[in-house]
Amino acid sequence: MSDDPVLSANQAFAHKLAHAQSLSWFCALCPQILQVHSLKDLQRLPVQAVEDEHGGVLFSALGEASHRAPGGGLTLTSGGSTGNRKHITHSWTFNASIVPLGARMFGVADERPGVVINCLTAGEMQGAFQYAAAIVQHVGARLLPAGSLMGVQRIAGLIQSQAADALICTPSFAAALFNHDEIDAQQLVSLRWLYYIGEPCAPQLREQLVRDWPAIRLRSLGYSSTETGPIGYQCVHLGHGFYHLHADAMFIEVVDPLTLQAVAAGESGEFLLTSLLPDHVPLLRYRIGDRGRILRNGANCACGSALPVLQLEGRVETSIKLGGALITQRQVMSVIAQALPQLASNDIQVQINRQANGVRMCLVIAQDKLPSGAEAAIEQALHNEAQASALLRLPGVLGLQVQRLARSRFETTATGKTPFFIELEATTDSPG
Ligand SMILES: [Zn+2]
Repeated sequence: MSDDPVLSANQAFAHKLAHAQSLSWFCALCPQILQVHSLKDLQRLPVQAVEDEHGGVLFSALGEASHRAPGGGLTLTSGGSTGNRKHITHSWTFNASIVPLGARMFGVADERPGVVINCLTAGEMQGAFQYAAAIVQHVGARLLPAGSLMGVQRIAGLIQSQAADALICTPSFAAALFNHDEIDAQQLVSLRWLYYIGEPCAPQLREQLVRDWPAIRLRSLGYSSTETGPIGYQCVHLGHGFYHLHADAMFIEVVDPLTLQAVAAGESGEFLLTSLLPDHVPLLRYRIGDRGRILRNGANCACGSALPVLQLEGRVETSIKLGGALITQRQVMSVIAQALPQLASNDIQVQINRQANGVRMCLVIAQDKLPSGAEAAIEQALHNEAQASALLRLPGVLGLQVQRLARSRFETTATGKTPFFIELEATTDSPG
């Protein structure tokens, strides 16, 4: 690749475009591809998305074609709400090419972990565990493939016995490890780096590590997704939420989420991603569901990289379908703000328990943000609030319960994330 990321991007896109235009099934589904000649023409193409009502068909076709492509590859589960999971196969060439991108975070810095314990979820049709392992191999460190299912106590024992200096895990896993009653701080003193991936790191964990574990540097292992591969990396000079864009491997459009028109340079908007790495199928203008902005000018990072810096500001919106209605995170937050204005979205989890006769909801609030015994008063306030009472009258909605819980007892997904909305596995007894 060229030293100039813009030149590299244009060259890589020319190959990507030629490949897309050579695929007859793709041209049939997306005839606009024939009107595209350079990155500037991308907006002529429809947006691709796992669930979007327009892009969903296209994404499904991409997935099917990627499985059939010669040479095999790695099949992963892409995003999508429960019950609407889709799969995509990345070629082995693609899988090899993402590793040096992931290792960019170590750059020329003198940060070289020696013994790395990988506590990401292994398997589950997710690529993060293998990706992290390949990065560790690339930087020449020793790797302990623990996985998340060993449990935090056994992992603490392993960290101590192997003198592991780096931990790769989700923030939810780290929070459980550093707040476990049975784990002695002495077991974790060899740790120097905590590399997280899979979800944003909540301020509580960041503050706790700064306060109680000053010897540990907390860094993102990168901004990436199953569908796109690596998007950005965090050099040692970038703070929380900031990443160098892999501009030679990924093209980002920042658009208004409603109109899908580009926002002004440097403004915040929704990301549309066009992967420039060779792969089985062309992922163009992929709607990842994240919002943020790109600081193209004046970034001049102290690491010396010419790659632009992006600021990841969060998810566009999470939502869940309930009783035939779409409930968004913003709606839930605005209702709760009436009673508890100081709550942030990561202080709350909405647990959905679908039963034979309908749906029960549990609004879980972090116990450090809700006084003990306040649950009933919050429940009453929600019943009196117009939007919440309308929700509770929806067909099939059986009730709402408020529960005060330690953050470590919030439900996590199979891949170790702590989502805002989560569907619980069906149980025979009702939780409330
Ligand atoms: Zn930098």
